[in-house]
Amino acid sequence: MSHVVLAGGVGAARYLTGAIEAFDPATVTGVVNVADDVVLHGLHVSPDLDTCTYTLAGAIDPERGWGLVDETWQAMAELGRYGGANWFSLGDRDLGTHLYRTARLHDGATLTEVTAEITAAWGLACRLLPVTDDRIETRVGLTDDREIGFQEYFVGMQHSVEVTGVRFTGAQQARLSPTAIEAITGAEALVIAPSNPIVSIGPLLAVPGLQELIEARREHNVAVSPIIGGAALKGPADRMLRELGEESSVVGVARRYRDLAATLVIDEVDRELASAVEDAGMRPIVMPTIMKQPGVAAALAQACHDAATGV
Ligand code: GDP
Ligand code: CA
Repeated sequence: MSHVVLAGGVGAARYLTGAIEAFDPATVTGVVNVADDVVLHGLHVSPDLDTCTYTLAGAIDPERGWGLVDETWQAMAELGRYGGANWFSLGDRDLGTHLYRTARLHDGATLTEVTAEITAAWGLACRLLPVTDDRIETRVGLTDDREIGFQEYFVGMQHSVEVTGVRFTGAQQARLSPTAIEAITGAEALVIAPSNPIVSIGPLLAVPGLQELIEARREHNVAVSPIIGGAALKGPADRMLRELGEESSVVGVARRYRDLAATLVIDEVDRELASAVEDAGMRPIVMPTIMKQPGVAAALAQACHDAATGV
């Protein structure tokens, strides 16, 4: 038995928590987005990998939804003293992770190797695999013809500006992680997590070969809609879909994912759109998908696994 999840940050981390509750954690693998990664103050920061790691370790800050619990911010305050760039907050505890990752990468370790070391140190029994060991970078186009980095858009501008396009620089040259290829090829069930379809799942599919690998096993793939009642729970997924000419609804999600997965899990609030999802080419499953309530994520993971394996 093996359960592989295409993962971004928060939505994926919650889903993975359910998967390790429902199944033997050793059988669960997340293939994680790295296009949000950013070098700050010389440090390699991997927001989606860290969100997944900290969440699975039970160490995520529950209020912020990112970073570590019981965090302090003294390093940032000192950075501010010097007029250093402090628009992207890195907590004192969190900085330890980035220091370790950066030093290991500098020593020649791959991101896959460093991630395995970090997740092991947090006691995770499941695997998190960066989709590639190469650098990919999400670039966001704005209406004034400027193009900015993803974190500048997401954190710096708090995603409050209209987007005209998204590009993943480096993706064409990036090589899929061999471990990820092996995990996906051998997976009994593959799940596209409820992550931002454009900037979390999009860059995964932009790595040459991944889309074909996923499409070839479509019948055993399930997607969970990150759009509920036409809106994202958090973040800009709904606006981004509309700004890029798609529909911010489970039907829009189905149109985007229909070649990748046979089944789409939609929330109960979208029940009346189930037949439209079917018309768009995906088999709908209607169930609770808001994973803040205990038990929802595990039930979701079980339903996805059953659908993917034809139970
Ligand atoms: P980020 O990288 O941290 O921005 O997070 P992701 O790309 O993984 O997730 C952002 C998307 O996840 C948003 O569109 C949310 O609506 C969705 N999301 C977050 N939590 C949940 C949840 O509990 N259920 C569902 N269905 N979607 C969620
Ligand atoms: Ca992210």
